[in-house]
Amino acid sequence: MKVSMIGTGYVGLVTGACLAEMGNDVLCLDVDENKIRILESGGIPIHEPGLDAVVARNVKAGRLRFTSDIARSVAHGTLQFIAVGTPPDEDGSADLQYVLAAARNIGRLMTDYKVVVDKSTVPVGTADKVRAVLAEELGKRGNPVDFAVVSNPEFLKEGAAVDDFMRPDRIVIGADDERAILLMRALYAPFQRNHERLITMDVRSAELTKYAANAMLATRISFMNELALLAERMGADIERVRLGIGSDPRIGTHFLYAGAGYGGSCFPKDVKALIHTAAGEGQQLEVLGAVERANDAQKRVLGQKVLRRFGDDLAGKHFALWGLAFKPNTDDMREATSRVVIDDLLSRGATVCAYDPVAITEAKRIFGDRPGLSYADTPLAAADGADALLVVTEWMEFRSPDFTELKAKLRQPVILDGRNIFDPEFVRAFGFDYEGIGRAPAG
Ligand code: NAD
Repeated sequence: MKVSMIGTGYVGLVTGACLAEMGNDVLCLDVDENKIRILESGGIPIHEPGLDAVVARNVKAGRLRFTSDIARSVAHGTLQFIAVGTPPDEDGSADLQYVLAAARNIGRLMTDYKVVVDKSTVPVGTADKVRAVLAEELGKRGNPVDFAVVSNPEFLKEGAAVDDFMRPDRIVIGADDERAILLMRALYAPFQRNHERLITMDVRSAELTKYAANAMLATRISFMNELALLAERMGADIERVRLGIGSDPRIGTHFLYAGAGYGGSCFPKDVKALIHTAAGEGQQLEVLGAVERANDAQKRVLGQKVLRRFGDDLAGKHFALWGLAFKPNTDDMREATSRVVIDDLLSRGATVCAYDPVAITEAKRIFGDRPGLSYADTPLAAADGADALLVVTEWMEFRSPDFTELKAKLRQPVILDGRNIFDPEFVRAFGFDYEGIGRAPAG
């Protein structure tokens, strides 16, 4: 099938590459010419495990191409996927300007039947807006070309995106046009050979499903984070509580990890957008409001632990920070907890040396030449001379360090583990003063 992928970011590039992998003829469009240049010269503008091999294979086979030429992209695909960003607007609503600009381009230039697929996470009612823009542009030209608008929200996780796309838990298609549904079924058939994973529904339900999924996951995290704070006060251990409740199949084991707050490009913005959507309908989402407030507070917990130990004035204090990305296996730092922690420490006069396996380039772009902030090439080098080590992202490579060497590097043997990656007893046996999130105190 001929597919145009509009927006070549985390979602668009993965979707485009994986669709090409199944034999489709995919043309990826981006308005960011630098991104297209990198891709055309064989590079990958983001860090996503396994993506480089899929892209290289399909580029070589001639099934995956890149362009910044809008007319070429509109002419190419019967399926026009919109996978552009939907960042939060000032009031928390999803900013639809990129989605609607993409739709306008399609309407302006299309000459034959198109299925316009909303892959971006968009509020309920967006498909109607996309339809209206397409109709308006066609109307201007007096050109009655047939089209359908489909909602196909994406559930991939950054860091495991290729695997998630190739082996999806479910594929949600919101559509009311039979011809479009047939095309979408055919497109996704190779991704679900053994189990039917495709769930069709009306467009509005599909749009809401994506927000409901992210809101539920964010809720589980904030719930556990609040309980972790309570556990700290009561001398209980949230990790034991997690095991105790996760064994109940009605609760399940996923997304019950307490930590220093969730970040990323999706949960914070999607929770905000859903709250805003509901408010527009006159409904207050009480639970989600609390989820958001709890998470904003949770991102400050590591900084508060530092202040409790070292006092309000951190001048002359130096901290090691392990992990900049909002989660492991990505270089994405959008809404990352590390940004809040670094700001908190630097604003109190401390200096920080950070290490991350892949996100240092992105951190340099975000922080520029921020005084007091430096970067190291290895986790141990980051720890050199630090008054405490703060673990902010749970990268695998942080889990089993040489604790003897680590202790020798640190000025004070203090570990503040924002992701509960260490066993407190084991670490304390090396003489560390260890504090996790919601872990039982020493002794
Ligand atoms: P991104 O910022 O990485 O990529 C978006 C790309 O779209 C950018 O490269 C940008 O230059 C391009 N773009 C903007 N306007 C354009 C236009 N008119 N024409 C062509 N290209 C244009 O964003 P992302 O993380 O891939 O997210 C895209 C959408 O998918 C968002 O709605 C997001 O909420 C949703 N989503 C993201 C994830 C994730 O893990 N990142 C997962 C599921 C859903």
